[in-house]
Amino acid sequence: METTVTTTPAVLILLGPPGAGKGTQARLLEQEFGLVQLSTGDLLRAAVAEGTEAGKQAKAVMEAGKLVSDDIVIAILRDRVAQADCARGVILDGFPRTTVQAEALDTMLAETGQSVNAAISLAVEDDAMVQRISGRFTCAKCGEGYHDTFKPPKTPGVCDKCGSTEMTRRADDNAETVASRLAAYHEQTEPLIAYYDARGVLRTVDAMQGIDKVADEMDGIVRDVMK
Ligand code: ADP
Ligand code: ADP
Ligand code: ZN
Repeated sequence: METTVTTTPAVLILLGPPGAGKGTQARLLEQEFGLVQLSTGDLLRAAVAEGTEAGKQAKAVMEAGKLVSDDIVIAILRDRVAQADCARGVILDGFPRTTVQAEALDTMLAETGQSVNAAISLAVEDDAMVQRISGRFTCAKCGEGYHDTFKPPKTPGVCDKCGSTEMTRRADDNAETVASRLAAYHEQTEPLIAYYDARGVLRTVDAMQGIDKVADEMDGIVRDVMK
């Protein structure tokens, strides 16, 4: 069977509550399809660490498990998407999270004759979130994500990908903020499922399955979308 390569860059969106597996799957798709993973959470955490004006405004909001203002997030995303490495296509991980952001994205893409190719919804039960978030940690050097139970490194404390022994846990990955993050998801982000369904680009994956099974399904969807 012949497949053709798209000439316009693909724009894929990963939708899902905190801990659904967006970052994990985005990283796998990045490696497989040569797309660039854009995580607004990562971009905001970098802004906080650098102490930029946006970072100063975002810090307390993130620690409280609420959503950072649309203006700040849209500005950060717009700057990042304009960079050269995004020309081959992007996987948006954690953006858009509100209808205002979704509309801003559509407007942004329309300027260059693009549109969203697929919005993949990672469906998970709320109960699983606490467990996924509380066991999450990340390699500080290469960003590979791990989980105490579901995805431990082969050698405890050592990154499989780069060998680093420096692992970090996020300040907001605690039981107190999980409730407000889930509430923010249900109130502000979940309506985007209907938004993209109405535009005919929604795909849904059962993200209660293991990482490999979810990855297989994502793979099939992205192949289909990019052919
Ligand atoms: P998770 O992977 O758990 O879904 P993220 O790393 O995507 O979390 O986001 C962490 C925090 O950063 C969010 O709780 C929110 O405060 C902020 N954030 C990230 N993306 C957005 C966005 N698109 N709009 C508003 N706030 C955002
Ligand atoms: P998100 O970016 O949606 O917040 P992550 O990709 O960071 O979610 O995943 C949250 C945590 O759950 C990580 O520790 C990750 O290793 C783990 N994880 C991801 N997908 C699965 C899965 N399908 N089953 C079990 N654990 C998972
Ligand atoms: Zn590493």
